[in-house]
Amino acid sequence: MGGNAVVVGGGIGGLAAAIGLRAVGWKVTVLERAAALDDVGAGISLHANGMRALDVLGVGEAVRAEARPQYTGGTRVPSGGRLARMDGAALERALGTPIVGIPRSALHRALRAALPAGSLAVGAEVTSVDVSDPRGVRVSATNGGEERVREADLVVAADGVNSRLRAQLFPDHPGPVHSGSTVVRAITEAPVPLESDFELTWGRGAEFGHIVFPDGRAEWHAVFNSPAGVRHADTLAVIRRRFEGWHDPIPALLDATDPRAVLHHDIHELVTPLPSFTVGRVALLGDAAHAMTPNLGQGACQALEDAVTLAAALAPAATSADSAAGVRTASGIDAALARYDAERRPRSQAVARAARRAGRMGQQLSHPVAVFVRDTLLRAAPSGAALRAILRHADWTPPRLG
Ligand code: FAD
Repeated sequence: MGGNAVVVGGGIGGLAAAIGLRAVGWKVTVLERAAALDDVGAGISLHANGMRALDVLGVGEAVRAEARPQYTGGTRVPSGGRLARMDGAALERALGTPIVGIPRSALHRALRAALPAGSLAVGAEVTSVDVSDPRGVRVSATNGGEERVREADLVVAADGVNSRLRAQLFPDHPGPVHSGSTVVRAITEAPVPLESDFELTWGRGAEFGHIVFPDGRAEWHAVFNSPAGVRHADTLAVIRRRFEGWHDPIPALLDATDPRAVLHHDIHELVTPLPSFTVGRVALLGDAAHAMTPNLGQGACQALEDAVTLAAALAPAATSADSAAGVRTASGIDAALARYDAERRPRSQAVARAARRAGRMGQQLSHPVAVFVRDTLLRAAPSGAALRAILRHADWTPPRLG
């Protein structure tokens, strides 16, 4: 009864899509170009919408077991004064969960554990898709120098911000552009005594933040305005200088970091929205579809929403309207993909716009007068404003699978 799907990319979005599609009866193969999946970055915060999607996929509890709820924290200025408080307990009352922080590697492990061995092929780089036949897709990939073409009823393009499939399917689209910021981040080697579960500090054209994990170690990130491509021999030393004089615990976090653990990436986003999240039997998802700046902590959450929405649309009940036997029909699959596009594109693109705005009004502001106005407005904001800003994007109700 089920069709066969190839998911391109074994990141958060691709793995979640594979779990969801399997749950509604599809045979799924994930092709991931990386040879190993152990080292997948620093940490991540998941909002209620992401956690609700994970619950629908059946991995919410496994993720919670590795995550730390963010009850305390907020936004500060470099001298240490408070701009806004984050009230995790109020968020929990409103949404059933506060934001949680988790090492990316633990989130990936939890997602991979929900897939059967053999459904994920690593070292498999997809080179192109052929969508000329409306009933299916031919996927070409290389693995260890060997070329292989697979036939699929459906392809999920979850190949990230620099998506090769997006570039192939939308040749006129300009692709991702540099946001103007760069991010340096790491997980500390050992636990660091911290008063807050989560914190962001805004200076002029720069932000420093941390999230704490259950074992007391923390992820820190330093985001600052910079041209793309600037790299340093000793990145940690550069961060120490750039954030010198910023309040505690920033020096302690940097002191607890092994320089070899430091990651440095430029931040790119899709400024020009895609005209569609589907082309024939290919559905784009996650950063491939709507790469956004990290200012709202919503990129992965949106990828998880995509995954659940796609799976729900492609469940037998949703795709067999013209078949009494509950068998997926070609027209049912095409209609499901159209629904996926209609449901996901407006919402994820609106969140991406809001993330860009948040970056421009927050971390990226560098003129002293603009920074003064920003900080004054934030201090004067009524209590509850920060909570409402989070609720605007995090209060999402997932569809049921089947
Ligand atoms: P990716 O995670 O990029 O995965 C794509 C995968 O596809 C990769 O494994 C790649 O190797 C593979 N691939 C690429 N090309 C091919 C190919 N041709 N063939 C086979 N495989 C291929 N989001 C949040 O929700 N909360 C946060 O707190 C948060 N913080 C962030 C902080 C920073 C600094 C940044 C940069 C982003 C942050 N995000 C956050 C966003 C989040 O990381 C991304 O939105 C999310 O990882 C996207 O997942 P994805 O699966 O779409 O793409």
